[in-house]
Amino acid sequence: MNKKISIAILGSTGSIGKQALDVISKNENLFQVEVLTAHSNSSLLIQQSIKYLPNAVVITNELEYEYVKNALAKYNISVYAGKDALNQVVTFSTIDIVLSSIVGFAGLESTISAIKAGKKIALANKESLVVAGNIIIELSKQYNSPIIPVDSEHSAIFQCLVGENTNNISKIYLTASGGPFRNLTAKELENVTLKDALLHPKWQMGNKITIDSATLMNKGLEAIEAKWLFNIKPEQIEIVVHPESIIHSMVKFTDGSTKAQLSNPDMRIPIQYAFSFPKRINSELNNFDIFANNSLNFEKPNLINFPSLNLAFYAMEKAGNLPCVLNAANEIAVNAFLNNKIKFTDIPKIVEKTLYNFNYIKEPSLSDLIETDNIAREISLKLIK
Ligand code: NAD
Ligand code: MG
Repeated sequence: MNKKISIAILGSTGSIGKQALDVISKNENLFQVEVLTAHSNSSLLIQQSIKYLPNAVVITNELEYEYVKNALAKYNISVYAGKDALNQVVTFSTIDIVLSSIVGFAGLESTISAIKAGKKIALANKESLVVAGNIIIELSKQYNSPIIPVDSEHSAIFQCLVGENTNNISKIYLTASGGPFRNLTAKELENVTLKDALLHPKWQMGNKITIDSATLMNKGLEAIEAKWLFNIKPEQIEIVVHPESIIHSMVKFTDGSTKAQLSNPDMRIPIQYAFSFPKRINSELNNFDIFANNSLNFEKPNLINFPSLNLAFYAMEKAGNLPCVLNAANEIAVNAFLNNKIKFTDIPKIVEKTLYNFNYIKEPSLSDLIETDNIAREISLKLIK
């Protein structure tokens, strides 16, 4: 029997983390869990640890350490706490794949540590590429650490590009469901509630990305993610609203052909592909019915109602530290909306004000980016107050 592939799941208690564990439990002959990490949902982390018996777990919130440690005392599992522990566990020689599925800027450092350890990276944490795409792509070449996208659109593009020469890409069509507010007027958007915004029509996801999908900032972040992953120019990326969420993205080639990847909207498919690449596995997810999906529609996005898209394209084109500013301001604004501190339509306003007044750094180092992130958060917080 072939050796099983050992996987470290960073952010195992989140939406992606839980779906990754489901993929692993349905393919126990192929995959095993080596490390689990979570920030604060320690009861779920404990349950997962008892079920999957990883060699190590990390609870980054140190206040929860004693609780997790005691609960796992009778198992042969090492328990660590704190942010630094994350950077250490990802380097363990027993790990084959690191699934980077922490949400936000908080996922950046551990992703870099895993790359420097030469691990294969299954990347869900798009924010790390938005903030530090240049640095991450360079490090991934230097340390021979392949990055396989988990984001469904990027997995689709990646699959369309297997066997292709990226010089032959003419355009990438990044598909978007359009979110829950696609058909609202500008006036109606002013009054949407948090509850409405959390009801995504097609995907069940963590709160932050669900709000990003409603503002379309998610698609802006994904455009920046695509730029780095596929080494393409901003003008080669076109956002297409495709409400059915069946085509997960498309690549148009210089010879006039366009390739697309289709499946049911189920994140376990791209997660599974990132784990099995370059192979495909036989899976119970193989139940897509083309006749049940015989109407596929495409529209241009509404840039007036969803200004976040233009803000993200502005940051992508200017590059430097501006995508980092965009991301930090967006994390703060989304968090404020989630806590009922601002209106839905205030989110892009806060991002815009933070972005347009920021000190530009053309070629930021990692420490410049950490500082940029801190300052952008402070500015956005002041704007909210
Ligand atoms: P989530 O909020 O459901 O889960 C986040 C996970 O990160 C949790 O396990 C949490 O404990 C951990 N975490 C949060 N803050 C942390 C911190 N400061 N330090 C360490 N760990 C921390 O999020 P999600 O929806 O699973 O998304 C995770 C990532 O995957 C995001 O970057 C998101 O954009 C991306 N993604 C998600 C989906 C999806 O369907 N959910 C699809 C595509 C991409
Ligand atoms: Mg996506």
